[in-house]
Amino acid sequence: MIKILKDHKCGRKVMKRRKHAALLISAVFMAGLFFSLSGCGDARPVRYEATFLRLFDTRTTIIAYTNDKDEFARHSQLIYDSLEEYHKLYDIYNSYEGLNNLKTVNDYAGKAPVKVDRRIIDLLSYARQWHEKTGGKINVAYGAVLRIWHDYRERGMEEPETAGLPPVEELERASEHTDINKVIIDEEASTVYLADPEMSLDVGAIAKGYAVEQVSRIAVENGFISGLISVGGNVRAIGSRSNTGKPWNIGIQNPDPGEGSSELYILDITDASVVTSGIYERYYTVDGKNYHHIIDPDTLYPSEDYKSVSIVCKDSGMADALSTAVFNMSLEEGMEFIESMPETEAFWVLSNGEYRYSSRFRDFIKR
Ligand code: ADP
Ligand code: MG
Repeated sequence: MIKILKDHKCGRKVMKRRKHAALLISAVFMAGLFFSLSGCGDARPVRYEATFLRLFDTRTTIIAYTNDKDEFARHSQLIYDSLEEYHKLYDIYNSYEGLNNLKTVNDYAGKAPVKVDRRIIDLLSYARQWHEKTGGKINVAYGAVLRIWHDYRERGMEEPETAGLPPVEELERASEHTDINKVIIDEEASTVYLADPEMSLDVGAIAKGYAVEQVSRIAVENGFISGLISVGGNVRAIGSRSNTGKPWNIGIQNPDPGEGSSELYILDITDASVVTSGIYERYYTVDGKNYHHIIDPDTLYPSEDYKSVSIVCKDSGMADALSTAVFNMSLEEGMEFIESMPETEAFWVLSNGEYRYSSRFRDFIKR
C-alpha cells in the first residue's frame, strides 16, 4: 500500500517537536484523533499530520500545510467527522443505533427494501457502473463468495497449522447468489432491496476510495484547498503543496517487504489520486502458498498474475474501483482498458517481479 513520505526538509525539526506531539496526542485522543505534530521551525505555513485508527478498519492520515494548528485541527476534524459518517453507512459488520447501513441492507436480503441514506444509493449506483464497465470484474454483490474466503482467511491467520482452502463446490454454490441485477435500487423511495435472500453486499473494493473522494470535495468546499488524505493507502492529493506550489510526493509500496527499498517509486502528484491493490495487504498461507483477498469472479480464486496494481487518476473512487478490477484482468485486457480512459494510468508488478506501465505512467515518477 502507498506510504506518504515526510517532507524531507522538515526531518530534523520533526524530531525536535516530539514533546509537543506527545502532549497533543493525549489532549485529543478522547475525540478519536491522534495528531502527530511536525513543523518546519518558524517558517509558515507549517506541515501538520493527523492519524486516525478507527475508520474503515485501517489507518487514515491527513497532511496539510496550514498557518496554525487550529486551522489544521478544524479541517482534520471535519474530514474525520465526514469519513466517520461514510464508515458507518458502508459498514457491513456492525450496526449503529438509529442508522440503516449496508449491514441492515444485508440483514434484510430477501425480506424487505431498506430505507437508506442517499450516500448508500450513490455508492451502489457508482459500483454498478463500474461492474458494467469492467465486464463484471468488480462486483459489490459478491458478498456470498467473499465471506467464505474471509472466514477461511481469518481462521487460517489465527491457526496457520490448520489453514485450509474453501471447497470449490461451496464457492460455486455461493457464486449463484451474486447477481448485481438483484440489487434493487429505488431512487425515489431511497430504498435498497436484495432480491435474493442468500446474497449480500461487500463494498471493500470501492468504498474507501469513494468515501475519500466525496470527503475531499466536502473539505475543498470548506477551504481545504491543499492537502493529502490517505485511508489505508487510498491517497487523494488536493491541490499542490501549499508552501511551495510543488506536487505532493506519494510513494508506491514495494510489494516484497524486506526486499530492497520500501517504495518502488515516488510519484509527483497534483490534485489526483493514487490507489494500489496488492497481495501483501491481506492474505493467509496454505501449504506454503499465499492466498490474498482479491477474488476473480471468473475463477472464484485469488488472481495469480500480479503482486500489485497501482492506479493514478483524478477521482479516488474510480482509482479504487480500477485497482481491484484491473487486478482481476489479464495484462493485455487491463492495459487496453486503462489506455481507453483519458488521464488514467496504471503500474503493474507482475508475479515474476517484472514491471509494466501504461503509456504515461512514467510522467508521474519523481526525477
Ligand atoms: P483494499 O481495500 O484492501 O485496499 P481493494 O480495493 O483491492 O484493496 O479491495 C479488496 C476488497 O474488495 C476485498 O477485501 C473484498 O472485500 C473486496 N473484493 C475482492 N474481490 C472483489 C471483486 N472481484 N469484486 C468486488 N469486491 C471484491
Ligand atoms: Mg479497490
